[in-house]
Amino acid sequence: MRSLRSILVTGGAGFIGSTLVRKLLEREDLEKLTILDKLTYAGNRRNLIGPDRDPRLELIEGDLLDRSLLDAILTNTPYTGILNLAAETHVDRSIDCPQPFINTNIQGVATLLDAARHHQVALLQCSTDEVYGRTPAHQRFDEFARLNPSSPYAASKASADLLVQAAFKTHHQEVIITRCSNNYGPRQHREKLIPKLIYQALRDLPLPIYGSGQQIRDWMHVDDCCLGIIAAFEKGPAGRIFNLGAKSEHTNLGIARGVLKILKKPEKLITHVEDRPGHDDRYALDPRQALRVLQWRARIPFRSGFEATVRELAAELRPEE
Ligand code: NAD
Repeated sequence: MRSLRSILVTGGAGFIGSTLVRKLLEREDLEKLTILDKLTYAGNRRNLIGPDRDPRLELIEGDLLDRSLLDAILTNTPYTGILNLAAETHVDRSIDCPQPFINTNIQGVATLLDAARHHQVALLQCSTDEVYGRTPAHQRFDEFARLNPSSPYAASKASADLLVQAAFKTHHQEVIITRCSNNYGPRQHREKLIPKLIYQALRDLPLPIYGSGQQIRDWMHVDDCCLGIIAAFEKGPAGRIFNLGAKSEHTNLGIARGVLKILKKPEKLITHVEDRPGHDDRYALDPRQALRVLQWRARIPFRSGFEATVRELAAELRPEE
């Protein structure tokens, strides 16, 4: 078992990172937790309200690409692990302008990997089901499926995964990769599907749905995802990859209808818009390795988790009176 005594979380002010921070702080064996976050448009200090009262937590504002800052952080404290959640994450933005994705998601991971090797700290890289590309109907991809990314975002994440795998093969570096399916939960940025639908619905504005809306995603509650990340860090053998998914497939249209039903808004708000280029019509993971090796599985039922999330996000996104 790897120790959670002192952990560096990069991207801890983002959506999944800020939940991971909460889950880590619940652990009594954790003595120190440092967040390194650039606080881009996607990161937000408000995501850390509550955890910021815990004396074990510190937030350092800085860039993954700043090697001298990484060296200073890793020299000052003997961290037992680094969990890398810092990334550029919005697919649409990667289509408009891929460079920040190449900088943070590839160059940033290369910089962090090298620093982790130099300071001999284990590194978990948080990746995505999108690296496998479109999953054909009736199939689920396991960890040996070929990398076949469709968007610049997915390509940048796949590139990072290859760098992490190369570090294991070349340097026997202590690295683990988790590939997560679509997360839902509180504190997600307003540009992402579920918060965007809620924001629009609360204002009686059109809910934009790409193409037919029949694109399928495997939706997992962010609490489950974070427990999977922690289990992979603690128990995952070096060099291994773990798919983290809930086997809970829903179409984008189904998600939009679900939001409207919970918020008691009419379905006529749904507006089909031109599809995103390269839009994969299905992602589906086989998470059996995580169950077998980590004894992890997603536990929060979609129905209750989704309804609680919609209500929580609605409270965050409600128009000011
Ligand atoms: P997010 O966009 O909400 O947060 C990303 C965080 O990283 C932000 O706080 C941002 O300020 C920080 N950041 C960005 N560039 C940085 C840099 N150069 N240096 C330091 N910090 C930087 O993202 P998220 O949805 O929480 O995703 C976290 C991780 O999980 C990402 O690696 C993403 O690819 C992966 N993932 C997310 C999902 C999902 O459904 N959200 C699914 C699968 C995988």
